[in-house]
Amino acid sequence: MLSETIIAIIQTEMRQHKFDTYVEDPPSIAQGGRGVAVPGCSICKVRLSTVDQFVDHLTKSVVLAINEAVRGPGETAESALCNRISRGAVN
Ligand SMILES: [Zn+2]
Repeated sequence: MLSETIIAIIQTEMRQHKFDTYVEDPPSIAQGGRGVAVPGCSICKVRLSTVDQFVDHLTKSVVLAINEAVRGPGETAESALCNRISRGAVN
């Protein structure tokens, strides 16, 4: 089971993304511009056509967030996780 800290990091990062629609290249056509509504992450303004693409987007963001949270100075993310697992910090 993951530690509460890791779960909190994952939940915080996942809440920073939303699968919705947003106007690409605003203002929208309705507002006199050239922008059109497209599906994707409306927070990051990343165009994504499927739920699978959104899950990939979330996964990459979560992995980056965990890497940033566990990595110490001079450590790679992989060595940081291995060190914490071997110390029992992540179980
Ligand atoms: Zn996003």
